[in-house]
Formats: sequence, structure tokens, C-alpha cells
Amino acid sequence: MTHPQAEPGKRAGPVGVQRVGVFGGAFDPPHWAHRTLAETAIAQLHLDVLHILPTGQAWHKSRTLSPAHHRVAMCEQAFGDLPHTRIDAREIQREGPSYTADTLRELAAEYPQAQLFLILGADQLLAFRQWVRWPEVLQHATLAVADRATHIGADAALDQSQEMDLSAVDLPYERLHMPLKNISATAVRARLEQSVGRQGALDVLVPEAVARYISAHYLYQNPS
Ligand code: ATP
Repeated sequence: MTHPQAEPGKRAGPVGVQRVGVFGGAFDPPHWAHRTLAETAIAQLHLDVLHILPTGQAWHKSRTLSPAHHRVAMCEQAFGDLPHTRIDAREIQREGPSYTADTLRELAAEYPQAQLFLILGADQLLAFRQWVRWPEVLQHATLAVADRATHIGADAALDQSQEMDLSAVDLPYERLHMPLKNISATAVRARLEQSVGRQGALDVLVPEAVARYISAHYLYQNPS
């Protein structure tokens, strides 16, 4: 598929860290597709560091998220063993809604010589022009995008192989090449609400350590 070429956008810069990945999400909970996306980004983009940023108040999600400390802890379980990865809780500590433009401005100041890559799924690329101050996001970072299936959510088939159509997107971005994994946090929560106490079936959806954390803290047992 053809798409506009990303501008390199590299700033004059510094010792050591040159390529910084930024991966934000609700991570409620983090699942296998998130993990694969992080691994793919590190390898394909040759990242020196990947910041994983659980969102504070998600301005674009209608449901109330699980408490931030649980989502941070689950990110540590899901991504903590990946080299070059940092769980970054700044959006949780910041007051008010979490805007990626603010986070990128801070990271650009912290890594003045690096190229920043914002990692996201195709659904977020399609919604990108609704993001608050999206042009500012593009000034700071190159978008790096993974495919997502057309039908996502609680009742979506795991093996659905139809990709979202990005042909109308007129924004610069790089493609991340990973197998389509039709997992969503919505589907994970739905499965847990339906099968309290039966964690085994979760293995195909979330890393084992995340499943254990969910079980130990009785998360997602009530419909949201
Ligand atoms: P929910 O179902 O609660 O809306 P989600 O599964 O979409 O959650 P988020 O935490 O909102 O997960 O996603 C964080 C980022 O990961 C977003 O950029 C999203 O597009 C991307 N992402 C999530 N799931 C996938 C997937 N299966 N394939 C590719 N990208 C994904």
C-alpha cells in the first residue's frame, strides 16, 4: 500500500539517545497486541529507548478507566522485561486530561537531539485529526503505525484478517510491520466479565503476568 513518506524531522543532537519511541494508551489492560507493537517498534525503528505512557484522564474514552496504579503495574508486568523500555507515568501525574502534544513537548526537551516516533494503531491514525493540537504532535514526532482489523471490540473474531483502509489518510507516517492481532482491551474486559474465576482462557489475549495480576486484584469483574 502506498502512503506519504514520513519526514525524518531529526533535531540537532545529543550523545547516546537518538531514536526515542513514544507509546501511549489506556492499557486497561495491556494485551498481546500492545506487547507485539512495542517489540516491533523497538526492532524496526532501531529505538534507543521506548517510553510506555499509560494515560491519565483519557479525553477520548467515554468509560471510566481502571485506577492508574493498576494500569501502571500491569504495564510493568507486560513490558518490564523488554530491553530499552521505560514505563513512564508522567501523564498520570499530570493534572487534567492527557494530551499527547504536551507529552511530546516535554520529551522533545528531554531529548533535544533525538528523533521521536509516536507509535499507534491504525484506528488512532484514522482519528488523528480529532486529537487535540494534532499539528503540534506532527511537529515533534514521526507517526509509526501498525495495522488493525476493521472490526474491533467485545465481540470481534480474534482471527479477523481484514485490515482498516488507510488509503485516504493524507498524513505522513511510517508503517510498522507486524502480523494483524485482533485483540482489544475491550474484548479482554468483556471476556473477564463473563468468566470470573476462569483465567485460563486469557492466555491468548494477555501476557501471563498480566493475567496473574488481574486475577490477584479481582479486576474487570463488573461490567463497565
Ligand atoms: P480499548 O479496547 O479499551 O479501546 P485498546 O485495545 O484499543 O483499548 P489502547 O490502550 O486504547 O488499547 O491502545 C493503545 C494503542 O495501542 C493505540 O494506539 C491503539 O491503536 C494500539 N492498539 C491497541 N490494540 C491494537 C491492536 N490489536 N493492533 C494494533 N494496535 C493496537
